[in-house]
Amino acid sequence: MLTPNRTARLVLWIAVACTSQGGWLTASTWAQGEPCTGPPPSTVRVDALSKPPEFDLEKTISDLTQLSHAAAQGGGDRKGPALGFYQAKIGVKSSIKAVGHDISTGGVCLVLRTITINFGLQERKILLAQETQGNRCVRDFVTAHEQRHVAVDDAVLRLYLVQLQAALSLELSGGLAVQAKTPSDARQLLMKTLDARLQQAMEEFSARRDNAQQAAHAEEEADALEKACGPDVTNQIIKAK
Ligand SMILES: [Zn+2]
Repeated sequence: MLTPNRTARLVLWIAVACTSQGGWLTASTWAQGEPCTGPPPSTVRVDALSKPPEFDLEKTISDLTQLSHAAAQGGGDRKGPALGFYQAKIGVKSSIKAVGHDISTGGVCLVLRTITINFGLQERKILLAQETQGNRCVRDFVTAHEQRHVAVDDAVLRLYLVQLQAALSLELSGGLAVQAKTPSDARQLLMKTLDARLQQAMEEFSARRDNAQQAAHAEEEADALEKACGPDVTNQIIKAK
């Protein structure tokens, strides 16, 4: 039996780490079919990326109110002065291994073998207004409220990761292989394909946490602070500045 040179197997092991923020590619091509196919990846793993929040005590009520109103542009309804603010940056890092070979009709075929993903909240901040620092009751109240937002994010993330792991395992159960002219084109195409899928996951997670965070705001009526720390306390803090 003759084995033409061009079908000789060329094996490429590639480890790629990519951080997925901004500058996303939108198009994706699942270039599957003969002669470029492969078995499902042996590992599809999704781990939580969940940075604990850092505290920022530098901002004023006026700064936080601006931030809060800007954040509300995307929906929600934040009124009045903001004494605290919670910020989170969603991020994903993935690392893959793939194996490639030349194909008889020309070009190369690259098959995904393992994928490990760190997905979630890569940076978090609780901003407490300077003005709250002099009043322990207010400071504790605002901190507790912002910590509730942190807990909501963690809960949404835990649930989402279980679903993401299941969805990816299912989607990759038929294998993921891409075909391109050169090994480097194939690598790029494979990463682009995976990046597009992870981008979609980030958008989905972002929408879920927005909804959950809106609900967490609603639980905390503005007058709960006055109830806890005394009537007119917000105005007193603002004036005492
Ligand atoms: Zn809130």
